[in-house]
Amino acid sequence: MIEDKNQARTSLAELGEFGLIKHLTQNFKIAHTTTIKGVGDDAAVLDFKNKQVLVTTDLLIEGVHFDLSYMPLKHLGYKAVMANLSDVYAMNGAASQITVSIAVSNRFPLEAIEELYEGIHLACKNYTIDLVGGDTTSSVTGLLISITAIGEAKAADVVYRNMAKPNDLLVVTGDLGAAYLGLQVLEREKQVFEVNPNSQPDLTNYSYLIERQLKPEARKDIVKLLQDLDVKPTAMIDISDGLSSEILHICDQSKVGCSLYEEKIPLDPQVIATCEEFDLNSTTIALSGGEDYELLFTISQEDFPKIKGNPHFTVIGHITDKSQGINLVTRAGQQIELTAQGWNSIK
Ligand code: ADP
Ligand code: MG
Repeated sequence: MIEDKNQARTSLAELGEFGLIKHLTQNFKIAHTTTIKGVGDDAAVLDFKNKQVLVTTDLLIEGVHFDLSYMPLKHLGYKAVMANLSDVYAMNGAASQITVSIAVSNRFPLEAIEELYEGIHLACKNYTIDLVGGDTTSSVTGLLISITAIGEAKAADVVYRNMAKPNDLLVVTGDLGAAYLGLQVLEREKQVFEVNPNSQPDLTNYSYLIERQLKPEARKDIVKLLQDLDVKPTAMIDISDGLSSEILHICDQSKVGCSLYEEKIPLDPQVIATCEEFDLNSTTIALSGGEDYELLFTISQEDFPKIKGNPHFTVIGHITDKSQGINLVTRAGQQIELTAQGWNSIK
C-alpha cells in the first residue's frame, strides 16, 4: 500500500498548464444530455430544463484532510468525488456533473496527477458523471483538490434537513464507524513502517475497515431504492462527520428532539472486533467517527412497512418534541444527551 508506484517521473513543467489539462481530461466522455458543453471553453454549459439544480462543493487539503503516505492518489481521487456525490444524494437528487480544481506543487510528477485522475475517472464511470471543467494551478505547500458536484431533482422530490416531525422514524443505511477505524489502522501501520520500513503488515482482519476508509461508495443506490419503494424521507443528510453530528443538524434545523437507541446502531463485525482490540467503545466510534458516507433520514411512521426488513435500512430511533431533547438511550436504558462529539457523559 505504501510502495512507490511512480517509477516514471515526467515533470509538469514539460507539459505546461494547457497540455496538462488536455492530457488529464482527454479520456473523459460525456454521458448526460444535460451537459451542453463540457471541458474546453470559458465555462461549461448545462441545461436542466424544468428540474431544480443541486450544487455542492468541497475543498481537500493535504495534511489536513488526507495523508499521502497511506492514501494512494487513485483512492484520493475516487474518494474526493464520492464525498461530493454523497451530498447530492443526500438531497434525494441525481448527480450528473463535476468540476475538479487542483493546485499542485512541483514535487508531483505527471504520473502522480495521472493516478489522481484515474481515481476521478473511475468514479465518473461507476456513477455516470460528466467531468465538465475545473481549474489547474500551482501550489507551494502541497496538494489541494476542490470538487464541485452538480445534480438535479424534481422540485417535489428534493429532501431538506429541516422537515423532520415528531414521531418520524430515524433511519440509517449500511453500517457505521468502519471508515474511522480504517484510518486508525492505517495510521498505526504508518507508525510501524516509520520505525521498521521492512515490516510487512497483515491487514486481512481489517480489510472492510480499510476499504471503507480508502474506497468509500456514495449511496446512489439508496436514492433509487427509496424511489422504488415510494418513500420520500421527511429529512435527509449524509454521514460525513459522524452520526451524532448529523442527528444534531437534522434536529436543529427541524426544531425537534430525538431518541437514538444504542442497541440499534448498525455495526460491522470487524468494527466490533477492532474496537475490542483497540480498547475503543464502538458506540463512540459510530457516533463520532466520520467519513462513512451513509445516508441518515427520517420517514413518517406510515412509511415504515415499506422499508421494514430491508437489509439496507436500520431504524435507530425516532423524532420527538424539541422539549424532550436529543438523547442516546443506552443498552442499560439510561438517557444521555447527544453532543457533536458523541455524547455528554456528565449530566
Ligand atoms: P480559464 O483560463 O478560462 O480559467 P483554463 O485554461 O483554466 O480556463 O481551463 C480550460 C478548460 O479546462 C476549462 O473548460 C476548464 O474548466 C477546464 N479545466 C481546467 N483545469 C481542469 C482540471 N484540473 N480538470 C478538469 N478540467 C479542467
Ligand atoms: Mg482556469
